[in-house]
Amino acid sequence: MDQHRIGRDSLADDVDAVSGAAVPSALIWDPALTAYRFRPDHPFNPKRLELAVSLIEAYGLLDDPGLQLRPPRVATDEELCRVHSPQFVEAVRRLGTGGADPRDAWKWGLGTDDNPIFEGMHEASATVVGGTLVAAEMVMSGEVKRSFSIAGGLHHGHRERASGFCIYDDLAVAIAWIREQYGARVMYIDYDAHHGDGVQQIFYADPNVLTLSIHESGRYIFPGTGFPDELGEAEGYGYSLNLPVEPFTEDDSWLEIYGQLLPDVAAAFRPDVIVLQNGCDAHVQDPLTHLRCTTRMFEETVRLTREIAEQHCGGRIIATGGGGYAVWQVVPRAWTLVWAALTEQPVGDALPREWVEQWQGLAPELLPNRLRDSPEAHPATPRRREMEETNRATLATLRRTALPLLRGWGPGF
Ligand SMILES: [Zn+2]
Repeated sequence: MDQHRIGRDSLADDVDAVSGAAVPSALIWDPALTAYRFRPDHPFNPKRLELAVSLIEAYGLLDDPGLQLRPPRVATDEELCRVHSPQFVEAVRRLGTGGADPRDAWKWGLGTDDNPIFEGMHEASATVVGGTLVAAEMVMSGEVKRSFSIAGGLHHGHRERASGFCIYDDLAVAIAWIREQYGARVMYIDYDAHHGDGVQQIFYADPNVLTLSIHESGRYIFPGTGFPDELGEAEGYGYSLNLPVEPFTEDDSWLEIYGQLLPDVAAAFRPDVIVLQNGCDAHVQDPLTHLRCTTRMFEETVRLTREIAEQHCGGRIIATGGGGYAVWQVVPRAWTLVWAALTEQPVGDALPREWVEQWQGLAPELLPNRLRDSPEAHPATPRRREMEETNRATLATLRRTALPLLRGWGPGF
């Protein structure tokens, strides 16, 4: 493996390429996952998955003997119905085969601009869910320590309503499976630029599933929720945490508040496993959001989360993809960095020439040539100070109101 890696021109600047073995991990992928596609011109474009997986491969980041490339399976109706209603599953199936009147689709959040009906959408969606179930099974059984369901992360899916490009909620189905099979305490962390409303709502009353979402404030962006006062209900009151950030938020402010909140929440909750949604639409080049993060944020967020997983839950992380609409410029780079950080493999900065050559002819724009954004590439926002102070104040509010509600919270914090 090492010979293979260091033989690549593109890794010539990677001085660490020969050190250490990768953490045993699985990447869940099969080209069949690209069937989850609403329309050719829809922003949720599965091309990004092919671009990301081929970049991971081109870097040699699947070569270590401890790493596995595993296909998804198709989730069964019984599995889907752990969180979705049978009527919803039936409607998705029938609408996707032309067996139901599309005029009724709005009742299920389908047939809209965001979530148009497409042929075979039940099977395509159930395969995305099956990928995240495989990712969960492999980690929970101890076969691997980390897994990455790269096509998963459909966090806006509700019990009986599609929303925000999400039909079935693979994250919620996998978490429900973990609860049922293992009774494990699950910490769900979502750093997609949009609030993880579907997962939050499905476990809103469950104190064994803590949801923590950091996202652009719902005052400015879909789905319009995710405020610090959404704390959960009944037994689950205090187990729903939301850290909305200001538009134009940059890496430093993001990492400051996430880094200050995560260790205390984890220490109080004591998870058995972390489920991590890695939507990469907080990037400055993403066309659907107003945040100004760079690749550093993704790499550092995974690293911080990894440290917390090592401290509290044997390092176990089940990761998924999520949003990400800068298909050519950002998603492949962000998710390569996520995979490298999850598996603890060093990765050089020059993009492999073979990857650029493979895709440049198909790309509508000039492909990047570096994996990481240079700090100078994106000048600071003029609102920096105001944005940082507002984010700090939001964190302070959350610490004051939410953390004392966690059962494990104590004076030591
Ligand atoms: Zn998003």
